Amino acid sequence: MKAQPKASHFVNGDWLEDTAGAPIEVIYPGTGEVIARLHAATPAVLEAAIAGAVAAQADWGRRRPIERARVLMKAVEIIRARGEELALLETLDTGKPIQETRVADWPSGADALEYFAGLAPTVTGETIPLGGDFAYTIREPLGVCAGIGAWNYPSQIACWKAAPALALGNAMVFKPSEVTPLGALKLAEILIEAGMPAGLFNVVQGRGAVGAALATDSRIAKVSLTGSVPTGAKVYAAAAAGMKHVTMELGGKSPLIVFDDADLDSAVGAAMLGNFYSSGQICSNGTRVFVQRSVKEAFLSRLAARTAKIVAGDPLAEDTQFGPLVSAAQHEKVLGYIERAKAEGARLVCGGSAGNEGPLFVQPTVFADVTDTMTLAREEVFGPVMAVLDFETEEEVIARANGTEFGLAAGVFTADLARGHRVIGQLAAGTCWINAYNLTPVEMPFGAVKASGLGRENSRAAVEHYTQVKAVYVGTGPVDSPY
Ligand code: NDP
Repeated sequence: MKAQPKASHFVNGDWLEDTAGAPIEVIYPGTGEVIARLHAATPAVLEAAIAGAVAAQADWGRRRPIERARVLMKAVEIIRARGEELALLETLDTGKPIQETRVADWPSGADALEYFAGLAPTVTGETIPLGGDFAYTIREPLGVCAGIGAWNYPSQIACWKAAPALALGNAMVFKPSEVTPLGALKLAEILIEAGMPAGLFNVVQGRGAVGAALATDSRIAKVSLTGSVPTGAKVYAAAAAGMKHVTMELGGKSPLIVFDDADLDSAVGAAMLGNFYSSGQICSNGTRVFVQRSVKEAFLSRLAARTAKIVAGDPLAEDTQFGPLVSAAQHEKVLGYIERAKAEGARLVCGGSAGNEGPLFVQPTVFADVTDTMTLAREEVFGPVMAVLDFETEEEVIARANGTEFGLAAGVFTADLARGHRVIGQLAAGTCWINAYNLTPVEMPFGAVKASGLGRENSRAAVEHYTQVKAVYVGTGPVDSPY
């Protein structure tokens, strides 16, 4: 077993195993080989994790923020020092090229820990003068938060949730996707090494049922989910029944709009990044690329030429730019969408089949002449399949870009910055770019509108989602009572 952890779970500061839990086989998508065997959390494991988190949070929440920050900063140091080892593990867990996991996954996670470590000591309440009397507010931690992750950026997702939660005085019980369970265990181990008290960050493995058990437990104050819209609807409903806070980072079908005055090479590069990076398994991808008709053929020919040069292959090889999909189920799903696009009359520009580099590869694929009603323009594929649609006018493209239940992201390419701001101002999306795409620095809020979710991760905006306000009225004179 190439990547067998010491045990399936990390609870109360230590590895924990319970072989009574349903087996989970971890596959390296590059070859299909089994690299670890784990077990889903049993009720006993879940109980230990939640009870441990409740006990640990009471003291952690009362500590000086700067003390909490020091622990997180130590974890950042460890993550950066072990960058190569962590990138390798991420590649084994997800199949993403080592080129990507070295620069994107853990590095982004470390940035989040660093950012919230710095931010935590600056989070304060306010004083409200009331003419003699006054009130003040305190931003308090929520308590124990549940984090439930998707499989596309497993370690980054774990860090993006753990960083604000822990920095602001909460504890967390985190359930990774059963497809990619390894990175979160590393984070738990690193936090302990960095000096974090036991019980504050626990990792429990399992499928949807384990996530559902967390979302319904009365001791959990908040659920932060990264996943699909259908799962989000279920988890949100379960959380609502217990009046819990939620952050929902869900799927998308985001528009990337290219006007005829855009720098075409940059727009092509951004469309490729926003459809082929991580083999297209990114929630915020610009999977509906609207190109103004007068530049459509020029756009497509440059796109096809550059796509043909993408180096697909062994994810562990230095020069590989494009890896497999994460699982057989996802592979089958993506190929199904490609067949459907062909059957519905989209024009195949390049790709369009399984790749021959390994069992789970799909070629980087571009369809043109896609219409708004085709399945490819309406449903999230979560694979390397770009849909190019064309348009005439600004007004038309805004209406069509907004004609979806999703609202995660949007991008505009134009040389006319006034138009860039005007168009973005009218798009229903939570995370937007002008003349860039898919850059998500921790300083910038990340999140969605409409069915793609609610709440914000990263930036100062996340403080609102991991704290609650206590308001305190202070009387300074005798009580004025009619009785
Ligand atoms: P899923 O929605 O299938 O699963 C997400 C997580 O929820 C998994 O850990 C899953 O467990 C768990 N889960 C499933 N059912 C329940 C339930 N009833 N109660 C609680 N938890 C449950 O998503 P995927 O893992 O397939 O990830 C892909 C999706 O994630 C895409 O739609 C993508 O757009 C979205 N995503 C959104 C991002 C964002 O920030 N907006 C970022 C990344 C991805 P298990 O997998 O073990 O069944």
